Amino acid sequence: MTQSPSSAASQASIGHYISGRVHAASGGRSQPVFNPATGAVSGHVALASAADVDTAVAAAQKAFPAWSDTPPIRRARVMFKFLELLNQNKDKLAHLITAEHGKVFTDAQGEVSRGIDIVEFACGIPQLLKGDFTDQVSTGIDNWTLRQPLGVVAGITPFNFPVMVPMWMFPVAIAAGNCFILKPSPIDPSASLLMAELLKQAGLPDGVFNVVQGDKEAVDALLVHPDVKAVSFVGSTPIANYIYETGAHHGKRVQALGGAKNHMVVMPDADLEQAVDALIGAGYGSAGERCMAISIAVLVGDVAERLLPMLEARAKTLVIKNGVNLDAEMGPIVTAAAHQRITGYIDQGVKEGAKLLVDGRTFTGAHAGEGCKDGYWMGGTLFDHVTPDMRIYKEEIFGPVLGCV
Ligand code: NAD
Repeated sequence: MTQSPSSAASQASIGHYISGRVHAASGGRSQPVFNPATGAVSGHVALASAADVDTAVAAAQKAFPAWSDTPPIRRARVMFKFLELLNQNKDKLAHLITAEHGKVFTDAQGEVSRGIDIVEFACGIPQLLKGDFTDQVSTGIDNWTLRQPLGVVAGITPFNFPVMVPMWMFPVAIAAGNCFILKPSPIDPSASLLMAELLKQAGLPDGVFNVVQGDKEAVDALLVHPDVKAVSFVGSTPIANYIYETGAHHGKRVQALGGAKNHMVVMPDADLEQAVDALIGAGYGSAGERCMAISIAVLVGDVAERLLPMLEARAKTLVIKNGVNLDAEMGPIVTAAAHQRITGYIDQGVKEGAKLLVDGRTFTGAHAGEGCKDGYWMGGTLFDHVTPDMRIYKEEIFGPVLGCV
């Protein structure tokens, strides 16, 4: 079954995008997509079977000869047009992000802008693809290099940046002459279809950019597929390791970016107002669901006694509400499962002896405003006296929990 891409993002059924068309799952597996602010099901996303992945790879493989043979300047023109369309549709993309991820609208706009940065970079592809020439590398031997596309390449991306992270990958890959398969997170899949639609409107030939929605089954099919030449992954560290090992084992070029536990060191001569601002933004922005979130503050010398009362006051007065409200500073947690995991970490921190200064568990949907009762809500949590042997120090919590050392 096929439908026009423009109608797909707003419909309950979120399909794959292959050869310039949206396709429903052939095998019939799907999972619900939620609005984390309200807990309501907003749609169902198809989960690709290996056969769906085969169809997408075949479409990309078919498009590759003509696309890779297209002069870089003409590929760049498609990117310029895509850039223009992205700027026109920035808020539409940001709304999709807020509706499925939950991050506040201004943050979602920022995400789209950071993705646009990469499209601007990809517009320079004719210059970026230039090779080198070395005269007389040995007697009578000259040496030259050129950059060539690999063929069909794939991107597997996380839930926390459904627009920016795919745009770290596909604009440059496509501009360089490759054909691309995106496997987005099934938690917030709709933006991928809007990006596909905009690429088509920009004049990208069918089959050059494809989306397979799905889970492990789709990922595994990509990792073993003989026609997929390279895989780019962003997500959690255990899955990054798995992708790297499995992809490399099957002869693919793989880059795999994992999780993080970021520290911010505050020295005694720091401007404390500025340090508190930075900690609030980096600890609780996007509900801490950023690979670059600050989850540990290292307070040096007498900083702790001066800074903690300020930080505690700010953490307690964070404006937490549905991200569609422009004054919201923090939105909901992405899923019920993530909410449960983060709550477990806070319980664990208390058990391990850290001092709980602000308890985000007390903030519920009832505090978040109308319609939010069944959403996945929590407030910002602040711990003091965190020590390096504690799990909340060592492990990525990926939620609004800031520990102070
Ligand atoms: P995740 O690892 O759960 O999922 C990432 C992708 O892998 C998704 O497309 C998912 O469907 C797929 N996947 C999940 N389980 C799989 C399995 N068992 N086998 C094969 N594929 C599987 O990550 P997430 O929760 O979506 O994203 C959050 C993580 O991403 C955090 O750890 C965060 O730090 C990290 N991240 C890192 C960066 C970076 O630049 N290093 C950027 C953003 C996010």
